[in-house]
Amino acid sequence: MSDAALAQLRHVFGYDSFRGEQARIVDHVTGGGDALVLMPTGGGKSLCYQLPALLRDGTAIVISPLIALMQDQVEALRQLGVRAAFLNSSQDAAESAATERQLLDGALDLVYVAPERLLTPRFLSLLDRAPIALFAIDEAHCVSQWGHDFRPEYRQLTMLHERWPQVPRIALTATADAPTRREIIERLALEDAQQFISSFDRPNIRYTVVQKHDSRRQLEDFLEGHAGASGIIYCLSRRKVDATAAALAARGITALPYHAGLDAGVRAANQRRFLREDGIVMVATIAFGMGIDKPDVRFVAHMDLPKSLEGYYQETGRAGRDGEPSEAWLAYGLGDAVLLQRMIEQSESGEERKRLERSKLDTLIGYCESTGCRRQTLLGYFGESHPGACGSCDNCMQPPRSWDATVAAQKALSCVYRSGQRFGAAHMIDVLRGADTVKIRQHGHQSLTTYGIGTDLDARQWRSVFRQLVACGLLDVDVEGHGALRLTNDSASVLKGGRTLQLRAEPGATPRRRDSTRRPDASVPTLPADAANRFASLRAWRGETARVQGVPAYVIFHDSTLREIALRKPRHLDDLATVTGVGAGKLERYGSAVMDALADVG
Ligand code: ADP
Ligand code: ZN
Repeated sequence: MSDAALAQLRHVFGYDSFRGEQARIVDHVTGGGDALVLMPTGGGKSLCYQLPALLRDGTAIVISPLIALMQDQVEALRQLGVRAAFLNSSQDAAESAATERQLLDGALDLVYVAPERLLTPRFLSLLDRAPIALFAIDEAHCVSQWGHDFRPEYRQLTMLHERWPQVPRIALTATADAPTRREIIERLALEDAQQFISSFDRPNIRYTVVQKHDSRRQLEDFLEGHAGASGIIYCLSRRKVDATAAALAARGITALPYHAGLDAGVRAANQRRFLREDGIVMVATIAFGMGIDKPDVRFVAHMDLPKSLEGYYQETGRAGRDGEPSEAWLAYGLGDAVLLQRMIEQSESGEERKRLERSKLDTLIGYCESTGCRRQTLLGYFGESHPGACGSCDNCMQPPRSWDATVAAQKALSCVYRSGQRFGAAHMIDVLRGADTVKIRQHGHQSLTTYGIGTDLDARQWRSVFRQLVACGLLDVDVEGHGALRLTNDSASVLKGGRTLQLRAEPGATPRRRDSTRRPDASVPTLPADAANRFASLRAWRGETARVQGVPAYVIFHDSTLREIALRKPRHLDDLATVTGVGAGKLERYGSAVMDALADVG
């Protein structure tokens, strides 16, 4: 590792050491090599081009697909004292011209630019006259036609290499799968680039899957442990987004909706508040999220099943970019699986695409039902092995018990069979539990031999049985027939008594003792009382400072930096300078204000 890079890391960014592959990448690109960087969200991709930008002569050109976020990225750099600017359609001509002049004068270390702008003949000829340090192609998976984020302009970026063969290129993405990687290499002509592939594990994220019974209340219970934290709640439909946001707002939580049906202005305003203010909860469809680089998102909750495990990993990956403990929470029930199956079957896609989507859904359901370590399952899906169980996911912390459900399964399957395979789980449960409903009387189901034979389990336990029977292929959902349950070829083996069946017992079906003494919230590390006071004072100062400057709070200092300051209680600026995240630029700007905020609480 070159000393210059480490010196700049400490001086400019205030960080002690490189993480993971960063050092090798920085070295390689600074030395003029091309690189393809695959790193999970929060892995620290930006440093991989920002440091070479400082170490090489000329200006680094950063191609980024999201105009809305360029400004915050540039702001974060300026706060560090780095000479950065952006060029995009949100600026007026005078601003653009000033930035272009600076670029020609060599007065900028980095320029962020949207691909459309980059590819204009005017801008390209401008680049011919400016010294270029490197090209960084962020969110490189945007070249992939198969992904959600396809940007046709990305396809033309091969011209950079043709026009400036001596300028190194670094392409970065958090999308892990092999086909996308191959496509990036091919489309960006990166065959000769060195590949740097990091582990996709996110050790600071805890994964939890709960069985849905009263999802609104379950969500509220979950949120209680996260008061004052920023988070994202994903829902499948726009309607549910609106309803959930309104319900949370009514309970005093600052929750904002985000979906494609909202007016563009409202959407942008909500996103801006989420990025800039502390403690906002964004309730959103998956339209929200790409490139959200807010580092202190403390939780990502899913009220509905996502579409695939890749999607789930990407969405939950938005939590905890700052490396602090964070939570990924998913509520899941049979209804979700049925709904998604129906969406697949009724879509216009061709048979091949449907088959692919079905298998993705199965994988996801397998993840939800798994009794093993969630992290191992997730990483295994991306072709990575995790040594041993993680010890921090729900299954590791409270290993699920299993029970002999053979008899219950026989009752359930025979009830489905005797009622003609025309009904969904809710009605079957009513029959098994001997309920008196209009529907039961209407169909004469009180005279079925299975009527009332299932009073030994409560409705919630039955729901779990039906869900798992579907998940393991012993029942099938007739998507055309409004979600009616049907037997499968395998059902007979259980019905005829030849096969025993172990099912997972749902935790929390009976109130758990551990929960009544509420466990400390995993995602907010607790501070001793006096340090907590200092932390609160520092946060208040940061909030005010950010408001006055009109920038997101985290570009001033991250929570982790404020926490370290609160704990260490520096007495002099020299002490403050040794805190992680306090570089020379920030020390000069904010050092004395921080000391004042500390003095205020004594
Ligand atoms: P990515 O773009 O890969 O999602 P970022 O570049 O935004 O990740 O970095 C994630 C967080 O980690 C940022 O808050 C960044 O400041 C921090 N970070 C990156 N590298 C280091 C390092 N070497 N030491 C300490 N913090 C780091
Ligand atoms: Zn685990």
